[in-house]
Amino acid sequence: MIPGQEPRPHRHPRPKARIFLEGRYRKLVRGLPQTIFYCPECKGRGRRCTNCGGYGKLTKDSVQELIARKVLPRYKARYGKFHGAGREDLDVRMLGGGRPFIFEVVQPKRHDVDLEECREAILRYGRGRLEITELLPVPRKRVAILKETPSRKRYRALVAVEEEPKAERLEALRGTVHEIRQRTPLRVAHRRADKERLREVRILDLESAGTGPEGPRFEITIDCAHGTYVKEWISGEGGRSRPSFAELCGVPTRCLGLDVWEVLGPFPALENGRRMPAFPEPLDWGDWKAGHEDPWDLDAGDQARGAGGDREEDPPPEPPSL
Ligand SMILES: [Zn+2]
Repeated sequence: MIPGQEPRPHRHPRPKARIFLEGRYRKLVRGLPQTIFYCPECKGRGRRCTNCGGYGKLTKDSVQELIARKVLPRYKARYGKFHGAGREDLDVRMLGGGRPFIFEVVQPKRHDVDLEECREAILRYGRGRLEITELLPVPRKRVAILKETPSRKRYRALVAVEEEPKAERLEALRGTVHEIRQRTPLRVAHRRADKERLREVRILDLESAGTGPEGPRFEITIDCAHGTYVKEWISGEGGRSRPSFAELCGVPTRCLGLDVWEVLGPFPALENGRRMPAFPEPLDWGDWKAGHEDPWDLDAGDQARGAGGDREEDPPPEPPSL
């Protein structure tokens, strides 16, 4: 200490005003939004709104709310925010390795929370709809890292074709990579500039999936670049996406169901050499089909489709407080 200078007052370390918990989630059902689905008519205010019946939102639950209802009481906090590494459409499931997210706890009054007990409570509450990995406290800057990493994705789609394409033509598509040009899909053109973008799609696998009311069906697995409009690539949307899967098959095709299987990153590692949270058991499509009477769960998607639309790249809604 310098003579003559007053000693600095002793300070207790202030409890953190915000806590950031990183994990991954799987969304096992269609029709469950990632974040609170505020009513677009009344912006969540509810009062006298005929669109949402005064409820303020269009679904009872979301991934965010299933997590928040278990996390916030344990931290004695009133507000939480959900930050996803991108988002899937409402009618698209998030399976496979899950999607990275950070749940932000605002002004917790408690800090000694047993995160494993908290995770188990979320798993019980979300059973059949939501699964999450362990939750790891991370620094605030991870939010920007997760949100700004342009991540490749792996999708599996159920595709209806008007007539059976030639078997050798399909076989030749396996393992091929396609540079595609996409214009902004018509379904989002009302809120985004109509521009053309270049993206890459890799066809990993195709297999026949029997026949539905609309004709023969295929399951395809693809890897594609961040921001690819997969449903439009499958149909071609009247030439707005080229070359489309329909063009490659030589017959008109339509996406009946879509799931994200991997959000591939690459995401930067956590500090101190810690591993990012991950599911210990990979989710396997063969096991999933064996364990589900209706593995594609398309009816739930139909209900959701009317309300949803592509929200993959939309900014998250304004302060999703609870
Ligand atoms: Zn409303």
